[in-house]
Formats: sequence, C-alpha cells, structure tokens
Amino acid sequence: MQTILEPRTMQAWADATRARGERIALVPTMGALHEGHVALIAEARRRAKRVVVSIFVNPIQFDRRGDFERYPRTLEDDAALCAAAGVDVIFAPSPRAMYPEGFQTAVEVAALTVPLCGKTRPGHFRGVTTVVTKLFHAVRPHLAVFGEKDWQQLAVVRRMAADLDFGIEIVGVPTVREADGLALSSRNRRLTPDDREAARCVPRALDAAAEMAATGETRPAMIVGRVEMEIAASPRARLEYAEVRDPETLEEVDEVAAPALLGIAVWVGEVRLIDNRLLVPTEAERESAHAARGGSRAGIETGAADGPAGSREAERESARAGRRGPGASEARSAAEPREHWTGPRDR
Ligand code: AMP
Repeated sequence: MQTILEPRTMQAWADATRARGERIALVPTMGALHEGHVALIAEARRRAKRVVVSIFVNPIQFDRRGDFERYPRTLEDDAALCAAAGVDVIFAPSPRAMYPEGFQTAVEVAALTVPLCGKTRPGHFRGVTTVVTKLFHAVRPHLAVFGEKDWQQLAVVRRMAADLDFGIEIVGVPTVREADGLALSSRNRRLTPDDREAARCVPRALDAAAEMAATGETRPAMIVGRVEMEIAASPRARLEYAEVRDPETLEEVDEVAAPALLGIAVWVGEVRLIDNRLLVPTEAERESAHAARGGSRAGIETGAADGPAGSREAERESARAGRRGPGASEARSAAEPREHWTGPRDR
C-alpha cells in the first residue's frame, strides 16, 4: 500500500494503472475510519482490481468552523485499517494541494440539495460535489463507492455523475450499525457516554417509523409525529428535522404508498447525527393506493393491513430482504438489510 499526497502524483498512478487495463475503485472518506468505511472498501474490492481510499477533511463542506476543527483526524490508525482491508493507495492531499491560492470554481447540483440537510447546512453539498469532482479527476476511477447512511449525498453525487457525463459508476452500500442500531459515524467518537446512551433514540425512532409503515400507516405526518415523540423522550436529544420523501427525487410525498425515505437529523449534545430508513408499505396499502389511483378507493380507509393477513404480509415483506440506495445498482452483499424496495433503477 502506498500513500499519495499530490493530485498530480495520483493522476500519474491512475494513468499507469488504467494503461495496464486495471479497474480502479475510489472510496472517498474524511478519515477516522470505522467498520462502515470497511464495508465500502470491501464492496470496492469486489468490483475493481485496484482500490484507492481518499482521506481528506474537506474544509469547504463544513458550515461550522468548530465542527471542521474538531473533526477527528487519525491518519495512522486509518492507514493500518486500510492496509488490513487490502487498499492499494491512500490519497491524502493537504487542503493547500486541493485548494491552492486563487481557487474559485464550484460544482453545484440544484433541486436535490435543497431539502433535508440542504436546509440547515448552506453550501454543504456544493462543497461535497466540488471536492468529489476534484477527487474523481485526481483518481480517475471506474467506479466510486458511497454509503447509504448519507442518502442525500449519494443521490446528489449520482445525479452529478450522470448530469456531467463523468462515466463513473456510483455504487451505494447499506448502512453499518452498532449492535443497538446506531449508525457508525466518525462523529460518534465525540459523544460522551451519556450522549451515546441518549443517541439510541435515533434508531429507536427509525424502527418505530418503519414499523408504522409496515403495519399500514401511510400518512407522513403521523409517522413524523411518532419520530418527534421518540426523540423528545430523550432530553439530551433535539430533532433538527424528520421528513418523508421520495427516495430518488427527494421530493415530498403525501402518502407512503410506495417505498419512501425517512430522513432525520438529531443533535445529541454537541454532535449532529444523521440517519435514514426506507419506509416500506404493506402490499395491501400499495394495492389500495393503486386502486385509488385507478378510480376505486376500495379498501383504502379500511385499515386492510391491520388484520392478520396484513401482519403476515408485513412479515413476508421484511423477510424479503434487500435495500437499494437512491437508484442504487444491483449488487448487494450477503448481509442484506431488512427493507425491500422495488423502485426504479438507476439510469
Ligand atoms: P465520511 O468519512 O463520514 O465522510 O464517510 C465516507 C463514506 O463512508 C461516505 O460515503 C459515507 O456515507 C460512508 N459511511 C459513513 N458511515 C457509514 C456507515 N455507518 N455505514 C456505511 N457507510 C458509511
């Protein structure tokens, strides 16, 4: 494994690797690596002969200076983890190498960056798409791997890669969680023991919401109300947003009649946690919504999914494991999460 610091050196490595006909996968990270990143690296290895992990705490995507300064930096541990995971190259440029004097260009995706995290983090996604573009141009990968934990980011990067003809496949990987359901995150290191305990309200709220959708609740307001309740029950936690949206367009939905994304951001102490869950309605709900659109409302108000048949269907639904990110591509590891989404594929 080698470590490369300069974009030009990275490009030279990429050109030589491509000249040998070897496929390159990029896993962009900000370091402080954990098992979530390891899952991304494993997916990258399955798909390409050469794997590059970029480690760069990108100043232009932070909307709060303190957050940037306090972001954990653990390069030595990261290098050991990458070596053990079979990474070929760590690309770890300095801020100066990425943004030299006079830098003034940005890449921006429009509508997808407006809701959810876009509302409270002005400029964040512009910073992400700009740095990802630069990383793509330095590493020249055939594919890049991102986590579904940052669902909106994945949707935005996918859109950008398609819109700007990057010719780079964007692969999504399901969220890796702690035993109690909390999504792994580099920011979890900054949780005090009390905050860590309080953070359990996040997966608890997501579980409650998923359960509601799986047992017939289709009204986003009811589901969001339940999320608010679960978070409010934890005095150390404060809900920034909870929204139910279309998993690909991120537009608001007024009914969970097809798999919908529940995105949430929660402050626990000083730390902002984001997470999401695909809400999968029961077959009965989907059918009744379909019937309603076709002119018949039969069954739509009857709570058809509440009876034993509905429960059985919900169980079958969750047993049919599998989940895809925003337009995610086909391959999935053996450890599939519970939700199943049969929405449109990427184009
Ligand atoms: P970060 O270093 O936090 O910027 O994340 C780098 C990449 O790892 C992003 O694509 C994240 O979505 C992904 N990632 C972070 N946490 C997880 C997790 N718990 N499971 C899967 N992927 C993750």
